[in-house]
Amino acid sequence: MNRILPASALFLITAVTAFAAEVPSAPTMFGSAAAAIAPAPKASKLVEPHLHIARSNIPGHARIALTFDACMGQADERILSTLVRERIPATIFVTARWLKRNPAAVAVFLQNPDLFELENHGENHIPAVDTPTLIYGIASAGSPQAVKQEVEGGAAAMAAAGIPAPHWFRGSTAKYDLSAIGEIRAMGYRIAGYSVNGDGGSLLGAVITEKRIASAKDGDVVISHINQPTHAAGEGVAKALVDLKAKGTEFVRLEDVEDTGDDKTTE
Ligand SMILES: [Zn+2]
Repeated sequence: MNRILPASALFLITAVTAFAAEVPSAPTMFGSAAAAIAPAPKASKLVEPHLHIARSNIPGHARIALTFDACMGQADERILSTLVRERIPATIFVTARWLKRNPAAVAVFLQNPDLFELENHGENHIPAVDTPTLIYGIASAGSPQAVKQEVEGGAAAMAAAGIPAPHWFRGSTAKYDLSAIGEIRAMGYRIAGYSVNGDGGSLLGAVITEKRIASAKDGDVVISHINQPTHAAGEGVAKALVDLKAKGTEFVRLEDVEDTGDDKTTE
């Protein structure tokens, strides 16, 4: 129970704050009369883009891109050791914050360049939204300059750690406004959405996480987390990796294949 309770509590908090964050984007909530008297502040429309990869179209050999976010905190050895032992390629999105705290895991990534593609998850894990708002309780970057700093700060930390220059960016919370997407694209990045939410922000239980990831289909991009070693979800992720391999899955990194992202994230 000790392990379950905090995760459940966190999930509730996340659900509540997610709802709160959505309220400003519901202009009809208070009726047109109220809107006429006091127009709501202009809230940017947020998108959570999808990303798919080119399918293998070979029965029994679904092609799947596993992507992991390393937001902050530590490395999840359950997942990292399974990837290395099973020789499963993956794309890892790292923040500057996480890189500084996890030199041993970074060394494992760099020692296995055939397995790991490292990409940019930002400097301080601040959502890449260029107007002030809260997303799951996290304050957005809030301006184009702050979005730029979040992206460039992430890339600078990667360079300092000896990691090849990134070509993909995924912001904290995986939500953006369209103008921030345009700004980040103009900086030369593709923006990494996903098509399967594997671990619900690392807050799901092990069994449901395993089931979600193991049911990924040909062309799917799976997102989950590699930075929560105390959460039950990571156990499910590690098991799902073995399940997928046993099913004949072709694992690819984002740099290995053609892709299709919506909301102008890759075109
Ligand atoms: Zn993250």
